[in-house]
Amino acid sequence: MAEKQFDTLLGEMYLQLVKGAARKNIFALRAEKEKRSDMALFFHALAESEEAQARRLLYLLRGLVGKTEENVAEVMEEELPLLQRRYCNLAEQTARQEGMVSVRHLADQEQKVGKKNSFLLKKTWQGNGQAAVYHVCSFCGYVHENEAPETCPVCQAPRKRFRRVG
Ligand SMILES: [Zn+2]
Repeated sequence: MAEKQFDTLLGEMYLQLVKGAARKNIFALRAEKEKRSDMALFFHALAESEEAQARRLLYLLRGLVGKTEENVAEVMEEELPLLQRRYCNLAEQTARQEGMVSVRHLADQEQKVGKKNSFLLKKTWQGNGQAAVYHVCSFCGYVHENEAPETCPVCQAPRKRFRRVG
């Protein structure tokens, strides 16, 4: 198997595991709602298992992905704009539908999160190489530099909902 195909296969498996783990956590919530706490617990265990498998693959993948310069360009030019377009699309679609206020609200907030992420990516890439400390809102994903704010400027979550990175 050519190296490129191997790289692609591992990448796809990694994504499948990460996505799968997220889905198992959602399935667990559903099982709890249906009063099947046994299944809920097992789905959580399955999610943990798939997260562990994903971490192992990530170590393998680390040596196979491109240079940071290429990765920054991919995230900046493709991944973040694609996510922005999807949230924008979601906002437009839900704007025309009754009873979709919470989805539209989410889409509006996540567009702000994405804008900030693009800004920080560019700033960090072009910066002086000094690592910053980040605080990430565990509710909406907003990333704040340095100390966590009193409340999230995007979703108004309190400071205790911020998780420190770095
Ligand atoms: Zn937030």
